[in-house]
Amino acid sequence: MSLKGKVAIVTGSTSGIGLGIARALAAEGAAIMLNGFGPPAEIEVLRASLAADHAVTAAYSAADMTDPLQIVAMVGDAHAQLGSVDILVNNAGIQFTAAIEDFPAERWNAVIAINLSAAFHAMHAAIPIMKGAGWGRIINIASAHGLVASGQKAAYVAAKHGLVGLTKVAGIELANDGVTCNAICPGWVLTPLVQKQIDARAEHEGKAVSDVRTALLSEKQPMIEFSTPEQIGAMAVFLCSEAAKTITGTTLSVDGGWTAM
Ligand code: NAD
Repeated sequence: MSLKGKVAIVTGSTSGIGLGIARALAAEGAAIMLNGFGPPAEIEVLRASLAADHAVTAAYSAADMTDPLQIVAMVGDAHAQLGSVDILVNNAGIQFTAAIEDFPAERWNAVIAINLSAAFHAMHAAIPIMKGAGWGRIINIASAHGLVASGQKAAYVAAKHGLVGLTKVAGIELANDGVTCNAICPGWVLTPLVQKQIDARAEHEGKAVSDVRTALLSEKQPMIEFSTPEQIGAMAVFLCSEAAKTITGTTLSVDGGWTAM
């Protein structure tokens, strides 16, 4: 399969799962609009290596996913610089853990803005372009926490359940426009987002990082193994393929059996 001639925006693609998805789409020939935070020099190395490794055009938008105007500008920049917006991967996300009664309102607002509202704003801007082209793929990176809950993660679980709901609505609305919308629901993937949780817990419990890693996995997943950004990237590529044409408005779990329990 080839995505040559297609343009993909991947939010939060300077790290972790987003970077894995950007690399997988670029490997199929898609031009990529990277997005996310990080030191500018490191981001430029990522952008240049993505372009060189896969002989594709790669651009970068510094849009902050908490700001609807910057999100709309990112979609406009991709359209103007790369010629189209065919694939939109709403991946940027943050985590914050606390009991509801201790959860700072400011952290609630930030998690909802980045993990949920940003996807709405990007879809709002990109859907007219996709409908105009008669082809589009929207892939929302939800989570096992879009399907089931854990304590201490009120904002994240609410945002991811909301993202799954948004995915269903888009699937219905776009069903006959050549545009599909689906949510990938990963279990544990060892990225900086998860490493922070492991380090915090190791410090809090006075345990070795390796023991906490195993504990984290075994509490949630029958399969004691992290999924990788490459595997999530492969799922995104599949959702862009002709074989996935009639898959829409649904969730695809890549979670080592987490939500089977
Ligand atoms: P990560 O921390 O490695 O990457 C997050 C990315 O989002 C980074 O590029 C960061 O710069 C970007 N980002 C953060 N705030 C932003 C903002 N305001 N504007 C623009 N970009 C911003 O995390 P990850 O684990 O790769 O997570 C990616 C997505 O996958 C998230 O939505 C997360 O909820 C989801 N997810 C992760 C796991 C996991 O186990 N790692 C599991 C399920 C779902």
